Amino acid sequence: MNCLTYARVSTDKQADKELSIPAQLQAMRQYAQQRNWQIREEFVEPGASARTADRPVLRQLLSKCRDQHDPVDVVLVHKIDRLARNVADHATIRALLQQRKIRLVSVTENLDDTTSGALVENIMAAIAEFYSANLADEVRKGMRQKVLRGGWPHKPPRGYISTPTINGSKIEPHPIEGPLVAEAFELFTSGWYSMKGLAHRLERAGLKNAGGGPISQSYLHRLLTNPFYVGRVRWGDVDVPGQHLPLVSRDLFERAQQLIRSRFRALGGRARLEGFPLRGFAICANCRGRLTAERHARWDYYRCCRRSYRKSNCTARFVNANRAHADLRHILQQISLSTVADSVNTAIDRRQQEQEATQHKRIEQLRREDAELMRTEMRLTDAFVAGDVSPDVYRLKSAEVRKQRDDLKRLASCESTTRQPRRRIETATSLWEVYGRLEASRQALFIQTVFKTIVLAPEGIVGSVLNPPFDGAEPNTELESKTIDQLGQLLAA
Ligand SMILES: [Zn+2]
Repeated sequence: MNCLTYARVSTDKQADKELSIPAQLQAMRQYAQQRNWQIREEFVEPGASARTADRPVLRQLLSKCRDQHDPVDVVLVHKIDRLARNVADHATIRALLQQRKIRLVSVTENLDDTTSGALVENIMAAIAEFYSANLADEVRKGMRQKVLRGGWPHKPPRGYISTPTINGSKIEPHPIEGPLVAEAFELFTSGWYSMKGLAHRLERAGLKNAGGGPISQSYLHRLLTNPFYVGRVRWGDVDVPGQHLPLVSRDLFERAQQLIRSRFRALGGRARLEGFPLRGFAICANCRGRLTAERHARWDYYRCCRRSYRKSNCTARFVNANRAHADLRHILQQISLSTVADSVNTAIDRRQQEQEATQHKRIEQLRREDAELMRTEMRLTDAFVAGDVSPDVYRLKSAEVRKQRDDLKRLASCESTTRQPRRRIETATSLWEVYGRLEASRQALFIQTVFKTIVLAPEGIVGSVLNPPFDGAEPNTELESKTIDQLGQLLAA
């Protein structure tokens, strides 16, 4: 068994009735010796204040008790009131010792066998709970202070390790994973990888999930958007330069963010390989299977899906994407919107009115929720003033309500900034011009709206069928209005 001893004298008038520090120390040494306990360290409080906050030596002792690498068995005092003079301090200290399975022993008192021991312990536990709630506040405050100084209060993100130092710890790049994270940014911004492809590539390089497989796409997404890697610390509302070394340059990080934004703007939010509007839609001239697309350092191409299962399934050669896109352009340039421009514009207007109505409804809903929260806040304040709610509960609950209201405000401001001017089309416009105006993510949908089928062979587009009204066939009102409606949706902001 090893123990720490703690000695203190008080300044008040009773001091002369107490043992002096040397006498306390002697009594404790004797007590330990009789039991064969080894005194690891003696703590002597030179000052005499009873408040924990003013007793640096007591705090040293407690931090020693917290140290998991060097566990302590017993804290020995001469009299229990040496340790803490008010019940709250006592409860906090006991709670800490109990948590660490450290016995508190007094030379002059038997702590375990008091008649009302259990009751006292219960009361103490209740008080300790109350104080640990305060402690949590203190911990949060401490974390915030750390963040404001550019530190990080949690386990560092992937690619960094936390190494212990004399006064706490230091976050440094991980010797192996740090460069892998940097590589992830480099590879991603090359534009050649989908999230899934990149996760597999990184797995081969050694950046894996806990099960040894590729990291998930959402994990990769979080990694690629974490500003910690450019040396920033973002924690709650705090955003400051960190003390740690960045793993990637600001420029590289920004390029990654732009690429992510443009990919995730794609409808449905799914990341797609951009620049292949025919992918998954065009069919193989050889086997009628769907075509997929790939990006390589030197050229982009479409290839038949069936080749990826088994080469013998389909022997079609790859299709140079540039050739296919040139053919696509040629076809779209031939088709004018003259006869349908008006109805497409009407469809755009209709769509935008719908969007505005939905947006209006959402904003109204947010306003109602906010009004409800405000009433809750007022009721809470009334209850606090009337004494029905304790200050702690009041503080906690009202902070919760305020946070919810802040969230609502943020949502509402997003709603009102997404408005965009209307996009109308001219009578003389060709389908190609309309196509060119669309973001990459909508171009594929445009192709699927305008075409019924596109057939691809190594020499380019070898066959295509347009949807009504562009097919030149007998008018079909129902199919025409379906196409026009979809165009309206695509072209609306
Ligand atoms: Zn094929």
